[in-house]
Amino acid sequence: MTADYHLHTSRCGHAMGTMQEYVTAARAAGLREIGFADHLPMYWLPPEQRDPGLAMTMEELPGYIAEVQTLREQNPDLIIRLGIEADYIPGREAQLRDLLASYSFDYVLGSVHFIDGWGFDNPAQVEEYNHREIDEIYRDYFDLVQQAALSDLFDVMAHPDLVKKFGFCPAVEPAGLYEATAATFRRAGVLAELNTAGLRVSAREIYPGPLLLAALCRHSVPLVLGSDAHAPQQVGAGLNQASKLVQAKGGKLICPVRRKY
Ligand code: ZN
Ligand code: FE
Ligand code: FE
Ligand code: ZN
Repeated sequence: MTADYHLHTSRCGHAMGTMQEYVTAARAAGLREIGFADHLPMYWLPPEQRDPGLAMTMEELPGYIAEVQTLREQNPDLIIRLGIEADYIPGREAQLRDLLASYSFDYVLGSVHFIDGWGFDNPAQVEEYNHREIDEIYRDYFDLVQQAALSDLFDVMAHPDLVKKFGFCPAVEPAGLYEATAATFRRAGVLAELNTAGLRVSAREIYPGPLLLAALCRHSVPLVLGSDAHAPQQVGAGLNQASKLVQAKGGKLICPVRRKY
């Protein structure tokens, strides 16, 4: 039985559909367990600089939480978890810790979407790839992912090789970075997400790719599944393929996921 722990909602400004529509889609996909993990407000920026097309506002956060609770009551046949996808921004750890402590999330997905303020996975900022060395981008990205894992803020590291999203990649796959990342995840005690959104972008490959997934399995890092659905029809997409992959690599899938394994 698979669970989909990475669902967005229209509150983030770049996803479609009501939460009820995601629940209906989950049932149609045969899932018994789901977790909403919409983007946490952009806590590290002053309110006027937060992009309403990237994350919900602080004012919307209580409504997001309340709606998950309502949906739970209305759908007793499904297990519905309250997750959140939080950005890792170095230097802002204490601020994030305080914010997360104000709410009782079932789990927190940790994401690196920014390298020094550059939204490297944002289609509007893809031009920046032409101005940097790809090997350096990868080094910076995996450094941040490891810092995030060690911050003790997150339960699951989301889409651990998101940096490949647009298909830019080093001439030689950085096996050393993957090895260090997997070892760090193990040491930090975080889980890694197998995120099928990679299949829907230029990378055309699940996050993490085969080499990083093999390293994670070698280091016995437990895995969770997520579609990163930004539309109801994406709920559960690719999860069967992903769980077969885990089986083939001898990895361990965790379900249910909770705060601080
Ligand atoms: Zn999103
Ligand atoms: Fe993300
Ligand atoms: Fe996401
Ligand atoms: Zn994500």
